[in-house]
Amino acid sequence: MQLVLATHNPHKVKEVAAILEPIVAGLTIGGYDGPEPIEDGTSFLENSLIKARAAFLHTGQTSIADDSGIAVEILGGAPGIFSARWSGSKDDARNRQLLLAQLADVPEGNRQASFICTITMVGPDGEQSFTGVWPGRIAFSETGSNGFGYDPIFIPEGFEVSAAELEPLVKNSTSHRAMALSQLASYLRPQ
Ligand code: IMP
Repeated sequence: MQLVLATHNPHKVKEVAAILEPIVAGLTIGGYDGPEPIEDGTSFLENSLIKARAAFLHTGQTSIADDSGIAVEILGGAPGIFSARWSGSKDDARNRQLLLAQLADVPEGNRQASFICTITMVGPDGEQSFTGVWPGRIAFSETGSNGFGYDPIFIPEGFEVSAAELEPLVKNSTSHRAMALSQLASYLRPQ
């Protein structure tokens, strides 16, 4: 079985394949280089539907899309669906710097945040969505070089290091993406 992953983000392809392929026997994740739709939804769910529908329409193959981001409590859930372009451009380093600057005066106890990931699958059998939430807090500075995006400034609950300091195997078994994909895996191979 092959699923098309509706993203042009190579980090997401790597993480999704690393999580899903070992837990669903015979599954491979294919890339997608078709047109990118306008993500004008107002939620992770809507945006993941827009991307998965576009890939299914373009390829005719069952497609999945990941829409994800980070929600900071004291910012009312921002950056949320705007995470990828929080600083105005798709530049991970500038996005992190802006978020750190916005929280510069916020004490340790008020820096709660969560990564959220919605995975939607669209194919001939219909549409299904699965969501995972990874709670934690925003650090005061960047550490670590694994992962991508906001990983260097996110300290997951239960850890004292950033997500970018976790081994990929650890991140890929605990993250928001891991939680959403394990629900998809259970859907694909019901017990
Ligand atoms: P999307 O491609 O529109 O879903 O944007 C997702 C954005 O959220 C990424 O560009 C990252 O900035 C952030 N993000 C999502 N998942 C992660 C993660 O696992 N680690 C770090 N940042 C993430």
